[in-house]
Formats: sequence, structure tokens, C-alpha cells
Amino acid sequence: MKPMTRSTILVICGFLVFSMALTALSTMSIAYGQSATPTAIPLPHWTYEGAEGPDKWGKLDDRFAVCATGHAQSPIDLTKAQKLNLVDIKFNYKSSKLNIFNNGHTIQVNYDAGSSIIYNEIEYKLVQFHFHHPSEHTIDGKAFDMELHFVHQNASGDLAVVGVMIHQSDKDNAAYASIFDNLPSAAGTPQATTAMIDAAKLLPDVRLYDTYVGSLTTPPCSEGVRWLVLTTPIDLSAKQIEAFAKLFEGNARPVQTINSRDVLQDNVAAK
Ligand SMILES: [Zn+2]
Repeated sequence: MKPMTRSTILVICGFLVFSMALTALSTMSIAYGQSATPTAIPLPHWTYEGAEGPDKWGKLDDRFAVCATGHAQSPIDLTKAQKLNLVDIKFNYKSSKLNIFNNGHTIQVNYDAGSSIIYNEIEYKLVQFHFHHPSEHTIDGKAFDMELHFVHQNASGDLAVVGVMIHQSDKDNAAYASIFDNLPSAAGTPQATTAMIDAAKLLPDVRLYDTYVGSLTTPPCSEGVRWLVLTTPIDLSAKQIEAFAKLFEGNARPVQTINSRDVLQDNVAAK
């Protein structure tokens, strides 16, 4: 066996961290009626292009099969949404330590306990948030520069993800500075830090949304995820977006077939 280079070790470390995260998510998927995942066998490496890219994910491992065979996959193009007066998403976000790390596929911030959303009278705790470049969902066929995913879980293990579209502007967004000024360039584990982040400040002021039921957008692509994609984007500067793009040129799964699913839109005109 060849001696490992530092970068190889870092990639493997990043992969192990991500595998653990995926194992946790796979365990959650039991709640959606899917099979339990043996934890002993590591999940395979996957990428956003080439031989381990999105169109191959379903073939890389039996545990990723639903990436190819599922009928309720994410992301999708959010189009022809039925405009309704839906319940508001109640955000109870508090500050957290900035537990930021590069997991090999994105920049992720693990969130301290104590923050949640309430949706349809069910509490979903905020677990982590992370970014995609460009956006994964599109709205009426239009992709945004980036997309932020706030991942939440309820007491039964069901996931609800709030998506925030990111639009490029001229001005740095100060609320995001502590993240985008110090993006960890090497894959690794969450770093102990004294810096704080307030997820409430990362949201747009208007919180109308599109909603549908889909999946994780990364392997194992588990279904049964409640998506709540805010229809008002936030702005980041070109400089902030470029800092992320330098690390992740493209980490967005292409849009999937909607099949028989409905997209509902919480629309001010319907209120
Ligand atoms: Zn995501």
C-alpha cells in the first residue's frame, strides 16, 4: 500500500465524517418505512460529476438504490404551484456556536440544540445547515446562484428542510460574513470555535414558501422529506459566492422528475 499523502488523509477523514452523517440520516429513514442500514460497511464515495456522479448514485451501493428508483426525489423545478393560504412556518431560531466544517461535499454548520421550526403544529429541531452552488431547486425553470438548506428533524425522525435561494448582488451580506470570510478549504470535522451564528438573521424577511414532499438531495436520497422552499431569495455579494465556488464549483444535484406530486405555494394573494 502506498504511503498516504496529507491530502489523501484529509479526503478520507472528510469522507468518514460524511459517512457517519449519512449513516445517521439512513437510520432516520427507518421512519419512512425504508430498510435499516448496516453501520459496519462504509458507504461508497460519490461526487457531482463523472463515474460517481448523480446519474450513477443509484448504482454505487444498494443503500443508494432509491436515488435511481425513487418516484419522489429532490430537487425539482418548482412550477405551476397551486397558490393557497397555507400555515406560516414558525421560526424559533436562536444563536448557536459556529460549528463549521467542510464535509467534502459542502460547507456545513452543525447547530446547537434549542432552535426549531413549528410547521402544521409539529416541532422540527434545527440540526444543521449547508450550501449548494448553484441552487438545486429551480423556480419556474430559473436556477439561483446558490441555495441554503436548513435541515430539521421531528421527534419521529421525519425531516423538514427549509430552502433559501441566494441571489448575487454587489454588497457583502454582513449576516453571512462569519461563514463566508472563513470557509474551511480542507475536508475535516467540526472545529471548536467561540464565534456565534444566528440562523434567524440568515433568513429573508418574507417567508412565503413552496412546499412538496421529496427526498434528500444527496445519497442515500431517502424519501419522505418535507420541503419548504422560501420564494424570496437573500443576497450575497459576488465575492462571497466566489469564495464558496472556489471550493465547490458545482455541488447541486440536477432537478428530478416531479411525477404525480403537487407543489403548493403559500401565496400572499391568497391570504
Ligand atoms: Zn442540501
